[in-house]
Amino acid sequence: MQPVEDCLFCKIVAGEIPGDIVLETEHTVAFRDLNAQAPTHVLVVPRDHYANAAELAAADPAVSAELVTAAAAVAAEAGYDDYRLVYNTGTGVGQSVFHTHLHLLAGRPMTWPPG
Ligand code: 5GP
Ligand code: ZN
Repeated sequence: MQPVEDCLFCKIVAGEIPGDIVLETEHTVAFRDLNAQAPTHVLVVPRDHYANAAELAAADPAVSAELVTAAAAVAAEAGYDDYRLVYNTGTGVGQSVFHTHLHLLAGRPMTWPPG
């Protein structure tokens, strides 16, 4: 799949702009969030462009699962048994980059429900 023009995360996957990459798998790239909300805050993205988590899951369930296993591997490597995984879908709940990304947050107490 071709990168989408003007997509920030396509550019990070392609190495056109720098990302603090912590893990690469066959179909995913994991890099630190620029504006970390926890001691560990990593974004796991598919190499191919999909606008949101549901579009990816519908098109490629195996890669959708690979995002979760990659996030779990990053958490384990950082020494965390407890962590939170989040997908934002739509501007109304805070999605700001429309290349789907799984947030991995760990390393501090977290409240429920989220704000
Ligand atoms: P969203 O709000 O779409 O769920 O998450 C987008 C995330 O991307 C935000 O947490 C934001 O801090 C992060 N972000 C925005 N621009 C950049 C960037 O250039 N590099 C990295 N590593 N993260 C970014
Ligand atoms: Zn993209």
